[in-house]
Amino acid sequence: MGSVQIVTTILAFAITAVAVWLAVRAVMKMVAVIRLGQPDPTRFGDKGTRTKTMLAETAGHTRMLRWSVVGAAHWFVMVGFIVLSLLVLEAYFEVVSPTGELPLVGAWTFFNALTELIGILGIVGILVLMAIRLRNRPTRPGGRSRFTGSTMWQGYFVEWVVLLVLIFGFVIRGFKVATDHFEYPVWATPLSHAVGAALPNWDAGVSVAALIKIVISMTWLIVISLNVTMGVAWHRFLAFPNIFFKRDPGRAGSGLGALRPMTSQGKPLDFEEADPEKDQFGVAQVEQFSWKGLLDFSTCTECGRCQSQCPAWNTGKPLSPKLLVLSLRDHAYAKAPYLLAGGGKDLTGEEKATAAQLAHVDVLALAEGDKPLIGTAEEGGVIDPDVLWSCTTCGACVEQCPVDIEHVDHIVDMRRYQVLIESSFPSEAGVMLRNLENKGNPWGAPQNTREDWTKGLDFEVPRVGEVDDFEYLFWVGCAGAFEDRAKKTTRAVATLLNEAGVKFAILGEGETCSGDPARRIGNEFVFQMLAQQNVETLNEAFEGREKSKRKIVATCPHCFNTLGNEYGQLGGEFEVVHHTQLLAHLVATGKLTPVQPVDGGVTYHDPCYLGRHNRVFAPPREVLGTAIAGELTEMPRNSERSFCCGAGGARMWMEEKIGKRINVDRVEEAMSTGAKTVAVGCPFCSTMLNDGVNGKGAGEQVEVVDVASVLLRSVKPEQAPGEKETAPVAG
Ligand code: SF4
Ligand code: SF4
Repeated sequence: MGSVQIVTTILAFAITAVAVWLAVRAVMKMVAVIRLGQPDPTRFGDKGTRTKTMLAETAGHTRMLRWSVVGAAHWFVMVGFIVLSLLVLEAYFEVVSPTGELPLVGAWTFFNALTELIGILGIVGILVLMAIRLRNRPTRPGGRSRFTGSTMWQGYFVEWVVLLVLIFGFVIRGFKVATDHFEYPVWATPLSHAVGAALPNWDAGVSVAALIKIVISMTWLIVISLNVTMGVAWHRFLAFPNIFFKRDPGRAGSGLGALRPMTSQGKPLDFEEADPEKDQFGVAQVEQFSWKGLLDFSTCTECGRCQSQCPAWNTGKPLSPKLLVLSLRDHAYAKAPYLLAGGGKDLTGEEKATAAQLAHVDVLALAEGDKPLIGTAEEGGVIDPDVLWSCTTCGACVEQCPVDIEHVDHIVDMRRYQVLIESSFPSEAGVMLRNLENKGNPWGAPQNTREDWTKGLDFEVPRVGEVDDFEYLFWVGCAGAFEDRAKKTTRAVATLLNEAGVKFAILGEGETCSGDPARRIGNEFVFQMLAQQNVETLNEAFEGREKSKRKIVATCPHCFNTLGNEYGQLGGEFEVVHHTQLLAHLVATGKLTPVQPVDGGVTYHDPCYLGRHNRVFAPPREVLGTAIAGELTEMPRNSERSFCCGAGGARMWMEEKIGKRINVDRVEEAMSTGAKTVAVGCPFCSTMLNDGVNGKGAGEQVEVVDVASVLLRSVKPEQAPGEKETAPVAG
């Protein structure tokens, strides 16, 4: 070993010792913070599916590849990082000797050819990612950036480290070529040979270049260890467990669909016995999220994909799902020293720690512990109430997140505490909640008018109890029973089912609100009350039938979602389909025959709770495909990337006071297609988009109408009884 190698070896091992010590300390700190969260025993089942999903999403980049160029570039960088780690390991042999290489595989031509290729693709990949970050930098003139609010220096730092480490890999090999210590053919290692041709024959070059590579790598490790909230770097490690422990690993759209039940100490809360002084009602402190919530916050890469799709953020509201996650993460880590010393408030608001326990806690951590989780800037709050209440629960953030963060669950958990314990929510939604409690529907319409939509139909709509050989129970929903436009859809669906000879029956006055708006605003108590009543009614209606014969068809995607995905939590197991699914089946099997194509151009708006939350994208398009003249015109944002109408998450019942109206944004997009008909599959979308069209004074040119009505016009153009005007909403 020459004198240069003695120095490079000492320096390499010294900086590595410091970096590893700091990294171990950082990992222990992260584990301690994540363990502050509440238990969640639901995250450990079906390890086979979890492992498969994790591997598919990481190795296969199945979610990232939807952003094709970024996804492909990121894949090469990820693979490059894994291989790079081996080559960083090899650098420790090279600081010791210029001929050093990895044991076992280091002398293998295939290994050298593979690492050469991955190194080249890794350089291309990282240059693409750097260009994308620069092109989308928040400070660029004009336009909104998905990186707004991200810690930009961290992104640049990580990217430069990756680039330099890759480059120094080739410099090391180049010096080996130049000093005749590299025995691999040019075809296998072309770039190394090209670099070698440009470098001097310097014996110490290999060890010095290897030292520089190690110093860059260990500087990276030191920096990220000193910044445990640096998700852009830590996600390389945390993405694996975060994806493994996601809520529904086998379900496309995990983290969407059903909301999680309210839990205390990891157990679902039973309202009959729950006590706010002993049980946790929603989330009021960051440590009341589950450990998976805290892992979510730690894993965020700050990529901003969620932000770029969020309807609230895109219409000028203060909510960005990314910034929400970052605020919760920064707060959790800043508060952690206080919590880890035994601090925190119990459920009655009393401090748990003694003065002695808190005596050595940093004053900043103590101050962080005093911050309200929800509060305005003046109150020093972590999350502003306007942020919390801007969410439509559309799920675009969850859909886009490459590391499977479950934003909607976290937002609703915080809403639950605000509603149930603080009674703090937008006041205008109070009327809706009172109507749900007293009248069983959000409009407060009298229950005895639930069947009014059947009046004037030229056939009898059967009721459960009057008939028991029905195949489908037609769940009408409150909008379908009481709201004028939605009643047309209800009538159209009933007419089409009757035309197709489907045996169906309604509950009539036996039906009450599914509970969706109550649950999404955070009032779990009212949701449970309504849901239990419905589950009892439905179980009675289907008594004696196995699950596959307990079929329900619903026109409202919110009811469809709640009945199909959430009633199971209360003992109600049903096979629920959306009317567009059933109609597509009836058309495909020849039970319904469209005869007159609807013309004028048609576009389709995917309702969030039908599409993203429940992956029903094709059936409404299939129905429209058979009923219209020409091709369906898609909006730029469609299917998984569809843009919300603004009504979900109980936002239908709140005023939209900040920024541009979401429905107007969507209507402008629909109108930009030139279509005369905007087809929808949800009564709330119908209301919002109709309001948007009318607000733009385009009611004469553009019609917003349900898919069922479009089909009815094509199947029974002479009759179309679903289009008849009905009585105004009661109540
Ligand atoms: S659910 Fe929709 S509105 Fe809510 S934060 Fe996510 S993207 Fe934004
Ligand atoms: S998409 Fe996921 S990882 Fe990216 S910023 Fe949003 S929450 Fe973070």
